[in-house]
Amino acid sequence: MNFISTRGAEKVTGAQAVVQGIAGDGGLFVPEFFPAVSHEEISSMCGMDYPERAAFLLSKYFDEYNPAELLSACREAYGKFEDGDPAPLLRMDNGMYMLELFHGPTCAFKDIALTLMPYLLKRGRELSGVKEDILILTATSGDTGKAALEGFRNRDGVKLCVFYPEEGVSKMQKLQMLTTEGDNVNVVAVKGSFDDCQTAVKAIMGSAERRAEIGKKGYLLSSANSVNIGRLLPQIVYYFSAYCDLLGSDQLKMGEKVDFAVPTGNFGNILAAYYAKRMGLPVGTLVCASNKNCALTDFFKNGSYNIKRPLFRTMSPSMDILISSNLERLIFELSGRDAALTANRMQSLSETGKYSVRAEELKETKALFYAGCTNETDTVECIYDFFIDYGYPMDTHTGVAMSVAQRYTAAAEDDKDAEKHLMVVVSTASPYKFPQDVLYALTGNDVKDSYKGVKRIHLLTAMKVPEALKEIRYKPLRFKTVVPPDKIYEEVLNFIS
Ligand SMILES: *Cc1c(COP(=O)(O)O)cnc(C)c1O
Repeated sequence: MNFISTRGAEKVTGAQAVVQGIAGDGGLFVPEFFPAVSHEEISSMCGMDYPERAAFLLSKYFDEYNPAELLSACREAYGKFEDGDPAPLLRMDNGMYMLELFHGPTCAFKDIALTLMPYLLKRGRELSGVKEDILILTATSGDTGKAALEGFRNRDGVKLCVFYPEEGVSKMQKLQMLTTEGDNVNVVAVKGSFDDCQTAVKAIMGSAERRAEIGKKGYLLSSANSVNIGRLLPQIVYYFSAYCDLLGSDQLKMGEKVDFAVPTGNFGNILAAYYAKRMGLPVGTLVCASNKNCALTDFFKNGSYNIKRPLFRTMSPSMDILISSNLERLIFELSGRDAALTANRMQSLSETGKYSVRAEELKETKALFYAGCTNETDTVECIYDFFIDYGYPMDTHTGVAMSVAQRYTAAAEDDKDAEKHLMVVVSTASPYKFPQDVLYALTGNDVKDSYKGVKRIHLLTAMKVPEALKEIRYKPLRFKTVVPPDKIYEEVLNFIS
């Protein structure tokens, strides 16, 4: 299968798309078509374990990779998850389901793609005949950074440089990143927002001049953000997997639709659900949940995407994003895959901070998505209520998704004509990753120390503390560099010199 750019004629293989990260014209790679998955195939996936499901679906896209080797790479990646199950589905007493994606090495859903990506990249480099080492630049709102660091540290032929907003991540996220071991990694704090980090990284990757300068030093640039198709495609798998688990436990008959509620920042996770739907998974509504940073909610309401607005810092920092990169892939589909129009819109976004879609495109989006946002008070209340009523503690990002999912379900119940589906809420992080805010939501108490928060949540909920978070407590902090956004490129050059 080939991959094409959302902004032009560029066409590459899957291996090349993973290695390159983004297209030469600044666009994002998308599959040339969505491979169909029949009901029979979904049925047969029910008898498979997660690595087999992943290899089965991914080989439809990465058809130049050896299928047996892909399967063993999936086994290795998903063997790093607690109990060997990267995506357990739990039924809650309110009738909804939780798809828990946080049992990997860094306790957030980013692990699902980033445990596999080192393989996709390594083999991709060989398949596309690239000789240079790869330099991965990653902007992070907290979770991608650590997941990429764990995935790529001490791997041959790769260097990784992570940029995070100095004030824009949780203390625990920062601790996780700064204690990372490995000689081939660098972590840099940026005096700015996640958007500043992401824009700077995309600008470097989109500049032929800078690519050439980095090339002279022996490196080829790539990305571990969800702009990279190698990040996005493995995320399709857990939507299919959840559906199979519902079928397998007789909660559902084949063909019945399922709704998914996804806490959204860069629009990668929910886009993967949309891709699953395009491949034939019976998906009803996709609930796009945002925190106070609600540029996406407004877009889904009125068809106009406007990032000229203040960025709020919230207790769900991984969603404190105004420029959701993967929305570009959605509007590319909505426009009927019109690359020129998409390029125009993205140019308008970078020049004027906004663009709009046509009325018929907006209508189509409304049939697919329900978008909503919550404020901090509602998120806290939702986490508290859910724990008191159903005994289930959730993290702050998942709290946003649950809050919007409940609002959606209540509205659908009042609407006699609305189709009713099962609701799966995607749980993206362990509560222990955001211990202060989760403890505050559960008890109203503030603690300064992350580990005090961890201990109290554990006493209160009896939920197991992930080993990965226990370990970092006594590790030294290795990275101290802080730079303004306009010095990011300089820092990249320092790192490889
Ligand atoms: C990254 C992240 C999100 C947002 O996911 P996107 O793919 O960027 O939309 C939500 N929750 C958590 C915990 C995350 O780390």
